[in-house]
Amino acid sequence: MASAYRYGKNQLPGAPNLNKKAEIGVFGGSGFYSLFKTAEKLSLKTKYGKPSDTITVSEIHGKRVAFIPRHGAKHQFPPHMINYRANIEAFKRLGVERVIGPCAVGSLKPEIGPGQIVICDQFVNFTHSRKDTFYDGPLTTHVSTADPYCPEMRKVAFEAAERVGIEVRKKGTVVVIEGPRFSTRAESKFFSSQGWDLINMTQYPEVTLAREREMCYLNISIVTDYDVGLEGNPEIKPVTHEDVIRVFNENIGRLRDLIFEIVRVLPKERSCECSKALEKARIKA
Ligand SMILES: [Zn+2]
Repeated sequence: MASAYRYGKNQLPGAPNLNKKAEIGVFGGSGFYSLFKTAEKLSLKTKYGKPSDTITVSEIHGKRVAFIPRHGAKHQFPPHMINYRANIEAFKRLGVERVIGPCAVGSLKPEIGPGQIVICDQFVNFTHSRKDTFYDGPLTTHVSTADPYCPEMRKVAFEAAERVGIEVRKKGTVVVIEGPRFSTRAESKFFSSQGWDLINMTQYPEVTLAREREMCYLNISIVTDYDVGLEGNPEIKPVTHEDVIRVFNENIGRLRDLIFEIVRVLPKERSCECSKALEKARIKA
């Protein structure tokens, strides 16, 4: 008997056939809506709940790109209340293989200033209340996150940045804090004393959940502030939410140019190991 559903490689059993709806997923702020004017809208519910908002799917340079505003259309989900699992699962159900996760970050180093773009290669997790795995058993699964960000996408991002004339820092460690409050001076001092570069509230567990679903993940961090300020420079005040939104929006054009170029040059097939993340992650009985 013909089934109402087809189960493809990226398809979970029981899920409607949405496979191949999109190949690239982008998380982002409300400023991104304008990119997707003529797009298709999809309302999805996953077994982990609803994603942050309706998903917009559009074609960019001949590729199908899905977009979810991670804080919701009205910015109603603060970082610790985002349903990261539903967002990642929704992309997976659409057939997304690669995720681009732009975000606003604070700088922990004087040499990294507002307006700079950093393509992170490491994170440190300081969050504590988030559902950060799809695998609560009985299928015990330990994915490797030694290199959490996709090396192939990072390389493409460097090339794309050069082509569109946008300067990017090619390395960065972001410490992810629980929020929603910003850091104390003592916390910020501790983070910078560890040699970490940036601070943010949403990179974790977004990046590792993507790995658990064998999707590639690329971070693009826009530096919006200096966290609690800069030592010895009283002119630079501790960050406010207003600063973050203002500087992020000032840079949205550059971010869009970079993302569009990345989408254009990403090879059709993946040559990285992200698609095999689960192969060595399980103990064979
Ligand atoms: Zn990859």
